[in-house]
Amino acid sequence: MKVCKFGGSSLANAAQLNKVMDIVLADPARRIVVVSAPGKRHSGDTKVTDLLIELAETAVKGENTDRQFGAVVERYAEIAQALNLGEDIIREIEHDLMDRIAKVAVLSKPEFFDLMKAAGEDNNAKLVAIAFTMRGHKARYASPKDTGMVLTGKFGDATLDPSSYATLSRAFSNFDGIVIYPGFFGYTKEGKVATFPRGGSDITGSILAAAVCADVYENFTDVDSVYPVDPRIVPEVSEGIPTMTYREMRELAYAGFGVFNDDAVIPAVRARIPINIRNTNHPGEPGTMIQQSRRVVPGTVVGIASADDFCNIVVDKYLMNRAIGFGRHLLQILEDEAIPYEHMPSGVDSQCIVVKGQHLPKEKEHRVIQRIKRELDPDSVLVERDLTILMVVGEGMCYTAGMFAKACLALASAGINISMVNQGSSEVSFMIAIKRKDRSEAVRALYRTFFG
Ligand code: ASP
Repeated sequence: MKVCKFGGSSLANAAQLNKVMDIVLADPARRIVVVSAPGKRHSGDTKVTDLLIELAETAVKGENTDRQFGAVVERYAEIAQALNLGEDIIREIEHDLMDRIAKVAVLSKPEFFDLMKAAGEDNNAKLVAIAFTMRGHKARYASPKDTGMVLTGKFGDATLDPSSYATLSRAFSNFDGIVIYPGFFGYTKEGKVATFPRGGSDITGSILAAAVCADVYENFTDVDSVYPVDPRIVPEVSEGIPTMTYREMRELAYAGFGVFNDDAVIPAVRARIPINIRNTNHPGEPGTMIQQSRRVVPGTVVGIASADDFCNIVVDKYLMNRAIGFGRHLLQILEDEAIPYEHMPSGVDSQCIVVKGQHLPKEKEHRVIQRIKRELDPDSVLVERDLTILMVVGEGMCYTAGMFAKACLALASAGINISMVNQGSSEVSFMIAIKRKDRSEAVRALYRTFFG
């Protein structure tokens, strides 16, 4: 069985929905279909989820919501009319939205926003189920409430209650036909609607794939595959990545690869379900398969990622290596300020701690530096900002001499100075920190070396 998830751009209008139905019907194994809310039809357009947020904001202010309400209904009506789905579904969506808006009086603001945002996926799943039925296929909408998608945590940033797996698995054990399931939301134990973070339909798909032990989780989007480098930096990149491992995906996603949000794939990765990223607009393309292991050609790299806005806290102290507890104390200071750290390369008498710029605003930086000076008495401490991290990733680098040398040579030939390097013993990736101004040139140099 395959679980497939279609993103907003795949469901933005009737033509796209027709493509989705063709894809699902082309393979009888595609039995669970997770849908997002309709997305942008063109670059200047607004996603239904954003229209719903605007609607919720207007309702919270106690202002007239007619315009925003009309804009949301219009998006569904356009699809329903083009596919001759009848008027009933449009009326149903109108009633559903009115019921939700009325709850503004009784829910807290975060609860109300989640209720409104969830309307995008929920109504779309109902509409898509009708579209399949009108084509003469057995399809039904399944509700996250009835199937037991229980969420906990913060509204707008909820996570799955792990007990849901058993309930979901039972709910899907005896059904026939195609199930259309709304992504992005579930219910709290108290029965309130709660959503995952934005883009959360990927999470729903991943959870369902794990719950039903799917053979594959197909994630349909609008790119043919994952590319080994950001095409905005290297426009000539044409060959996608056919297969990569979960580890490779994680390393690339860490440094900004838009493959997937890390959290989205955790359920599928834990259950070892292969993930296939595919293009709704080119369903003949095999896409990128992400799985536990793959055949690896020694000495090859799978991708090069880069991410801006890292800072480096550099602490120097003569004879630091003999000072027992120095590293622990340093990390304690960061922990007290709730700053997560990313990398920790060290020298004999120096310790660097790389953190994301967003976690070190100026006032925190000031407190951290003062405490380091006071409590650790260093010879010097400074913060370097504007660092870019380059990640060179590939299982094929393990046990292969010269991979790092090649990267250094490429950067040296381009006249780029390396600020810092780090390689874990897994050897699946190495990290190079450079100045932000050198980012594009550095990525291009590495691409030429490993893929050119
Ligand atoms: N519709 C939601 C969003 O725009 C969730 C999703 O599409 O995955 O964030």
